[in-house]
This record gives sequence, C-alpha cells and structure tokens, in this order.
Amino acid sequence: PALIEMRNVHKQYELGENRIDALKAINVSIVPGEFVAVWGPSGSGKSTFCNLCGLLDTPSSGSVLFQGEDAAALSDDHRSALRNRAIGFVFQSFNLIPVLSALENVMLPLQVGQATAREARNTALKRLTDMGLEHHLAHRPAKLSGGQQQRVAIARALVGAPMLVVADEPTANLDSENALKVIALMRSISHTEGTAFVFSTHDQRLLERVDRQIVLHDGMVQDDRRNHIASFAN
Ligand code: ADP
Ligand code: ADP
Repeated sequence: PALIEMRNVHKQYELGENRIDALKAINVSIVPGEFVAVWGPSGSGKSTFCNLCGLLDTPSSGSVLFQGEDAAALSDDHRSALRNRAIGFVFQSFNLIPVLSALENVMLPLQVGQATAREARNTALKRLTDMGLEHHLAHRPAKLSGGQQQRVAIARALVGAPMLVVADEPTANLDSENALKVIALMRSISHTEGTAFVFSTHDQRLLERVDRQIVLHDGMVQDDRRNHIASFAN
C-alpha cells in the first residue's frame, strides 16, 4: 500500500489575472521506505510537489492520499495533526532557532508533544549522534557550518519518528561535499529505519545516489525511474 498517492493531481495558482499550472496530471505513488529525488529546472513544480506530499497544501483537482486517506477530506485540524505525527520537514535554509543550541533545537518538537524532558533529551541525543554531531550539542546554529546545520535540521525532522520526510532543496545552500554527505545520511536512515524521503533538487549529480528519481518538466512528470544500485562508499 502506498504511503503517498497522487491521483491525477493538478495544481493551479492564480497570480492577478493569470493562472499558472504548476502541476498537471500527476499520478505518482510513493511507498514506505522509498528514497526519492524530485528533479527539474526552476519553475518545474518541485516545491509544489513537495508541499502536496507534505500535506502543506491541497490540489486544485485530483487527490492526494496519505495511507489511502484523501487529505482533502480531512479538516484542517486533522490534516495538521496527521502532518505533525507522520511527516518531518527539512528546508533549504535550515530554519533552526538561532537562540537555541543544536540539542535544544532537536528536542523542541518532542517537548511540544507528550515526551518528558528526559525522553526528549535522549531521543535528540541519539539523533544528533547518528548525524555525527555528538561534539556540537551545545553549539548554537551560527557556530555551525551549513552542512552541520542541515544535519541538525534532519535530526529535528526525525525525532518524532515520522513515516515520511519531505525536504525542499535540502542541499541548495551546501557545497558539493556537504550535499553528498547529507544525502548519504538521509539515505542510510531511510534504508535502516524504513522512513520514506522525498526531496527536491536541481542538482543532477545527486540523482545517482537515490533509489528513485522523478523528473518534472513544466509541471509534468517527464521521467520516473528506479535506480538499481548496490551501495555507495560514503
Ligand atoms: P520549482 O520548485 O521547481 O522551482 P515551484 O513549484 O516553486 O517550482 O513553481 C512552479 C510554478 O508555479 C512556477 O511557475 C512558479 O512561479 C509558480 N508558483 C509557485 N508557487 C506559487 C504561488 N504561491 N503563487 C503563484 N505562482 C506560484
Ligand atoms: P523554489 O524554486 O525552491 O520553489 P522559489 O524562490 O521559486 O523557490 O519560491 C519560494 C516560495 O515562493 C515558494 O513557497 C513558492 O511556492 C513561492 N512562489 C514561487 N513562485 C511564486 C510566484 N510566482 N508567486 C508567488 N509565490 C511564488
């Protein structure tokens, strides 16, 4: 069964007098644990695709199903509860809270929920250690490199044990070495824990590092293929 299924999805934006078809006739299913890149030039619809996968937005027509349930049929409150429970987000510009340490940034989503401070701390500590950041727990974001900040953001996206992580251009502000490192870490989590990842990129070099690539052009799926790859040296 699919985690996310898009059925004949269209997304249109209105811009003054103009209508922009950001996505057209999208039919895509993403299953649990898939590691998927959405690639295409600027304006091809990648952000819109990510926003729909993350239940941040709804289609103009067609439907987006999350575990078989039509997201548009949920109330806004139910949709945001589902999003908080099941989906983690990573952003191009990291979006960490500047006055909090790395550890506090990662603990925050758990503290908003039901976890005790001790549970939140232990979970955040484990995630940051997985990301190779055990020596940077007390550092504020400004003291960290871009690659380190993005790894904190990935740790934060993972603390709630989501089924899906959606990342819109997570490597856009990273140099190529850090971009490859971040992708390798996400892929390793995906394979060991069965978390699905959907990330957008305009960087073609990252495509050989994913299990599946969805190529968007002008709001349509131009190519959708699974790579057959054994393993990579990280
Ligand atoms: P990408 O992420 O590949 O750059 P986007 O999904 O951001 O593509 O945009 C697809 C198209 O939709 C572009 O033409 C963009 O200008 C337009 N678009 C995106 N968001 C909006 C919006 N909120 N209002 C109007 N047009 C938008
Ligand atoms: P990206 O290429 O990563 O989507 P953009 O700078 O194109 O980044 O878009 C940043 C934000 O602005 C997105 O949330 C997108 O939906 C919105 N956006 C993009 N194009 C337009 C547009 N023409 N009008 C209004 N909002 C837009």
